[in-house]
Amino acid sequence: MEIKIIQGDITKFEVDAIVNAANSSLLGGGGVDGAIHRAAGRELLEECRRIRRTSHPEGLPTGKAVITKGYNLKAKYVIHTVGPVYGHADINLLAECYKNSLKLAEENNCRSIAFPAISTGVYSVPIELSAKIVKDAVKNFKSGVIKEIYLVLYGSNDYRVYKKEFEA
Ligand code: ADP
Repeated sequence: MEIKIIQGDITKFEVDAIVNAANSSLLGGGGVDGAIHRAAGRELLEECRRIRRTSHPEGLPTGKAVITKGYNLKAKYVIHTVGPVYGHADINLLAECYKNSLKLAEENNCRSIAFPAISTGVYSVPIELSAKIVKDAVKNFKSGVIKEIYLVLYGSNDYRVYKKEFEA
């Protein structure tokens, strides 16, 4: 299993699954969530609404993950997970987001997966803390099916922080 740190726009990734930093409503939002919904098209929102009606009427709890199709994206699937709001939810739930997303990807036979830096935008987790938690979570993951994990950073400073942490 290879871990690749890349600066870019996750909506453009040609991988089996991209991960969305969703909120518990699953009905879209700002940041990477909004960008993924815009690129995937309305059908993604419709599938998210069905998930809300059927399996998660109260919303998706922090740290959990669900999978949908990718629709107009190049990615076959979108895995939606809800990160912790910094200072308001248990920070250990951030690792759960990554672990549960990887598990779901494996169950769906994904060989490649791309993650944004969950919770580091509106949810305010410092990028240095995110890099440490993510490094620990992905390096300890026992992969079977997954061969490539892309960690996608949007900003150049975020990219530098991740590079430094993963090279340490
Ligand atoms: P959260 O609410 O989990 O903090 P945000 O979407 O606000 O989610 O931010 C999470 C991270 O995603 C931030 O580091 C932000 O810079 C980044 N981001 C925003 N748009 C994109 C994109 N198109 N591709 C990859 N990362 C993105």
